[in-house]
Amino acid sequence: MDNAIAMCRYHHREMGESPARFMEMLNDLYGPGHMEILREKSNGIFKTTKALRLEIGKFYREQYREWEANPDGHIWISYN
Ligand SMILES: [Zn+2]
Repeated sequence: MDNAIAMCRYHHREMGESPARFMEMLNDLYGPGHMEILREKSNGIFKTTKALRLEIGKFYREQYREWEANPDGHIWISYN
């Protein structure tokens, strides 16, 4: 998954209190190209229909089953 970060409680609070430092960490972690893709996604509007929402749910249920079967080797993928 390319748009989620897991942190301990301490760092979650520290990064939440310093958005500039958080952005610096993300830039170091992902690089400028990946950050630009995330920025474009966040500025876009992802319209859905009921059928698409069902498809997205199915996609993530399948991802979850794959993770359960192989928790150390699974790489989470974002639907979009
Ligand atoms: Zn930490």
